[in-house]
Amino acid sequence: EPKTGPLLELRNVHKAFGGLKAVNGVDLTVPVGSITALIGPNGSGKTTLFNLITGTGGAHTGEVWFDGERIDRLSPWARAHRGLGRTFQVTRLFKSMTVLENVVAPLESFSPRVLASGAVAGHEADRARELLSFVGLGRFESERAGALSYGQQKLVELAQVLMLEPRMVLLDEPAGGINPGLVDRMAEIIRAANRRGITFLVVEHNIPMVLDLCDPVFVLARGEVIASGQPGVIRNDPAVLDAYLGE
Ligand code: ADP
Repeated sequence: EPKTGPLLELRNVHKAFGGLKAVNGVDLTVPVGSITALIGPNGSGKTTLFNLITGTGGAHTGEVWFDGERIDRLSPWARAHRGLGRTFQVTRLFKSMTVLENVVAPLESFSPRVLASGAVAGHEADRARELLSFVGLGRFESERAGALSYGQQKLVELAQVLMLEPRMVLLDEPAGGINPGLVDRMAEIIRAANRRGITFLVVEHNIPMVLDLCDPVFVLARGEVIASGQPGVIRNDPAVLDAYLGE
């Protein structure tokens, strides 16, 4: 498969909450194989866009295309089945379940298989273990998820979404609230997953991380894309500096 062309595309997307135009005519293309960033000040519409992409954002105008198919009328479940995964700004792990159980848990909603209490089936457990070691948490598989640090929980959530074999993952602030020492490791794991063929769209406030990790970068302000392109270009764009200084 060629590593060119769009995997995800938004075309003239608008979303209003009452009189507030949260997203106002956004065009955005995520190239297949890329780690694309979506940055912007608080309230600029990043979360609203994520929700529209995954299908939890309610009615909007404009089109969302994924892998050559228009998906904006599909349920969140149907979109996930087509290979669109996401993580959340605040992790949604089952804190009292083990790390391994958490990684396997999403498969339940994908198949009628029931997770037996404590017992994770062989093949799935093997894959979950492989992913846990991929994110560097192999030795924590039997710990309660709630006992891990916040950054480690974010890594468990990443393993969890990778378990569904997505083509693309939306990452909501992967470095947000985590130990600074873990930020580089998080970036390295995202890069490694990208090398395995997963395309990413990343919302992140850690701008140095974004500029190092992502290409292209889209900058939102007041619901509109005010700049987009390679990180080196974005870094020096006066409109971008202005949007952040005006926060
Ligand atoms: P960001 O993720 O960039 O911080 P959001 O997408 O959360 O921005 O918000 C964009 C704008 O839409 C903000 O002004 C926010 O207050 C508003 N907004 C978001 N969700 C809702 C909602 N459910 N109801 C009303 N206003 C909302």
